[in-house]
Amino acid sequence: MRVGLLGGGQLGWMTILEGRKMGFEFLVLDPDPGAPASKIADAWFPPNKVEDFIRHSDVITYEFEHIEEDVLQKVYDLTTPSLNILELKRSRIREKEFYRKGSYPTPEFTVASWKDLKQKVREFGLPCVVKAERLGYDGKGQYRLYYPEDVEKALNNHAQDEKFLVERLIDFNFEFSIIGVRDRRGNKRLYPITLNHHENGILLYNFTRSYELKDAEHIVLSLMEELDLVGLLAVEFFYTWDGRVLINEFAPRPHNTGHYSLDGCYTSQFENLLRAICGLPLGSTKLKTPSGMVNLLGLSLEDIDIASILSVEGAKLYWYGKEKKPRRKMGHINVVASTEQEVEEKIEKIINLIYSHEPS
Ligand code: ATP
Ligand code: MG
Repeated sequence: MRVGLLGGGQLGWMTILEGRKMGFEFLVLDPDPGAPASKIADAWFPPNKVEDFIRHSDVITYEFEHIEEDVLQKVYDLTTPSLNILELKRSRIREKEFYRKGSYPTPEFTVASWKDLKQKVREFGLPCVVKAERLGYDGKGQYRLYYPEDVEKALNNHAQDEKFLVERLIDFNFEFSIIGVRDRRGNKRLYPITLNHHENGILLYNFTRSYELKDAEHIVLSLMEELDLVGLLAVEFFYTWDGRVLINEFAPRPHNTGHYSLDGCYTSQFENLLRAICGLPLGSTKLKTPSGMVNLLGLSLEDIDIASILSVEGAKLYWYGKEKKPRRKMGHINVVASTEQEVEEKIEKIINLIYSHEPS
């Protein structure tokens, strides 16, 4: 089976590492032959060779949301999960309107153009979060507004034809996510809940937690069904102080908060993606042991004391081999232990070893 991956990032890299064990071959379409997945693929294709990529792939999936328009049109009816689902994601506004229409709980929001952003923010009230409609990830294109003049940051960074989502700033108790997987016959499984800790809008670490949050589980199951999704669906949630569950966003692809599953679960999110899209039975999503993960942000291998990190029992290094940039996700450390408390202690230790200061 030859699997075509749109996008050459670390999500594709881990999908390839997992799929190789099962005999799959991988084709990667990405402008950069040096990207993590491009480098280890059986074949790499630049975007202008998309027809060849399509011809050589038995099944096509994506690991990247911001696929360029030319490519998108050529692969439109050919991907699993369907690109209709990704279309929802490509506009934060459309995504939010989809939640509203389906009565899925999500923070209160309004929509603004560049020209009326100031006025819309005034009417909506502060504090709020302004998110650019398109191309955001890892907190990019996102602004927290506490004072009226904060709106200038958003206006200055964006063009006059852009649109924005204006969202209530949620003072949440904690953030969590659930990853679901659904196969071609409609069988569904859920991965355990993870609690996720972000710093400046970017995931720093997360760990599994044996909470029963039935409302959230139900949301993930019904979203997969409603979207008729085949593959993975990661849903990020806020848990409010008064016990409500609100959807922040979803991603129809492998997710950073599921990296622990490589070491913590019977079947990783990457393997289950491949099983789902290739018509194989889903693997168990059960946890073998409490687990977690720490992202390596904006660091080179020389910046970290690998020996000390790996001397923490249950720690494993994943290094994506990307060019170092500030705040960029360069790799991660997975951690397993026999109790949830031990996982948290190990994560704290690893964070102290990695970041003697705030991640740059
Ligand atoms: P990523 O791609 O890393 O998931 P993103 O750029 O798509 O991030 P979001 O997931 O919308 O952006 O936001 C990133 C983080 O910012 C959230 O996980 C949360 O910590 C914080 N955040 C976003 N929206 C809100 C909100 N309305 N209230 C409070 N915090 C928020
Ligand atoms: Mg997010």
